[in-house]
Amino acid sequence: MTEYRADVVVLGGGSGGYAAALRLAELGKDVVLVEKDKLGGTCLHRGCIPTKALLHAAEVADAARGAAEIGVRASFDGIDPARVRSYREGIVAKKFKGLEGLISARGIRVVRGEGTLEAGPAVRVGDDVYRGTDVILATGSYSRSLPGLEIGGRILTSEQALDLEVVPDRVVVLGGGVIGVEFASVWRSFGVEVTIVEALPHLLPAEDVSSSKALERAFRKRGIAFQLGRRFSSVAERADGVTVSLDDGTTLEADYVLVAVGRGPATSGMGFEEAGIRLERGFVSTDERLRTTAAHVWAVGDIVVGLQLAHRGFQQGIFVAEEIGGLAPVLVPDVDVPRVAYSHPEVASVGLTEAQAQERFGSDSVQAYEYNLAGNGRSEIIGTSGIVKIVRRVDGPIVGAHLVGDRVGELITEAQLAVGWEAHPEDIAPFVHAHPTQSEALGEAFLALAGKPLHAL
Ligand SMILES: Cc1cc2nc3c(=O)[nH]c(=O)nc-3n(C[C@H](O)[C@H](O)[C@H](O)COP(=O)(O)OP(=O)(O)OC[C@H]3O[C@@H](n4cnc5c(N)ncnc54)[C@H](O)[C@@H]3O)c2cc1C
Repeated sequence: MTEYRADVVVLGGGSGGYAAALRLAELGKDVVLVEKDKLGGTCLHRGCIPTKALLHAAEVADAARGAAEIGVRASFDGIDPARVRSYREGIVAKKFKGLEGLISARGIRVVRGEGTLEAGPAVRVGDDVYRGTDVILATGSYSRSLPGLEIGGRILTSEQALDLEVVPDRVVVLGGGVIGVEFASVWRSFGVEVTIVEALPHLLPAEDVSSSKALERAFRKRGIAFQLGRRFSSVAERADGVTVSLDDGTTLEADYVLVAVGRGPATSGMGFEEAGIRLERGFVSTDERLRTTAAHVWAVGDIVVGLQLAHRGFQQGIFVAEEIGGLAPVLVPDVDVPRVAYSHPEVASVGLTEAQAQERFGSDSVQAYEYNLAGNGRSEIIGTSGIVKIVRRVDGPIVGAHLVGDRVGELITEAQLAVGWEAHPEDIAPFVHAHPTQSEALGEAFLALAGKPLHAL
């Protein structure tokens, strides 16, 4: 056995782990980063980046289909899955190379191999032990399944769906959360018959109900079918397809079924509990400063209960690095982390839903305003419909923003500043939004809540 020392050992080189390592290195710390697969983790290799490349291919397909309507001669001749794949893989490869270069340029020691936590704290990789003054756990998550659903063959998780080498005719998507909705959107743009099955009453059930309903309207128009408030009961797989049975006796025929029912924390078999870490339903228990129950051991990213998003992982990684560096940073609460589903149309939000705000402050103390993108010139030009809904406390700050429409994910940052800085609509109303942009829709909502609507009644 060889023992190595470092200021900090990071277990897992995904969004949370590598962000922590980069910030620690900036702060002059000697860092070891242990990764069993590839730096960049789920987001870069199997999550955010490859799925957004697919969604861009889907957008181009839709643009080609609709080109003639706006006077551009083009036709949609179909999807070339091999070419889509090489486009997607090319983007991932470039970003991966950039990340490896950055990690190496910051002088971070990368150890390739599967690590286990030891008390001390330390991380063991094979016969070697890496002992740090602090250890950060960032081992990420895995696709969950449902009882009676064995992944394989025609039953896919998002990983197999990304690798699918054919464009199927029919797909059933189990789960109407972000991953399910994004894949449904891609497949529909590729010409696939898609049915989403969601046990709760709406698609994207964690979003403001106005956003869910606007997405459902748009999906219905696009020919995406969904069964809401229905549970899956079984799947029968044959050589040429699958039959999905639901709890109300409905059966759905498809070529494939995508299981998109959430992601579980990757925390078992790595010595966490033996080293004094308390787990709750598999997630690592932390205090509000991301300290685990073992001294000098921290946790970031998808293993910490809450939003499983890459930018939350980045933020938590930076936070813990600065905490270790003695900078007493401010942790952004989950509610202020922006959320985007990159479907067609996109759904973006930050802060509280109207219902959550009413529950917290009382229904008489909350005011909401919904601006329809039909009134926004830029949205009309690009052919998208949707809403911008702003929730405020009466005579008080903006506490939530909920947007639906193509490209609205790019607008969420302004809304995030408003919510995070507890701005009042009256504070923002004097700021000018360039015309014609989709950001004007946010401006209109702020103006209306400040009592002086422009292009609205
Ligand atoms: C299909 C899909 C689409 C997504 N799209 C988005 C999106 O658009 N935007 C967004 O914000 N988020 C998105 N996400 C979520 C995002 O990918 C995760 O929130 C993010 O990757 C979590 O980062 P993490 O560092 O916690 O874990 P991960 O990225 O999973 O990284 C964990 C790393 O730890 C390594 N590891 C695990 N155990 C060990 C061990 N014992 N030893 C050594 N190494 C180990 C793994 O190999 C992995 O590299 C998506 C996820 C999926 C699945």
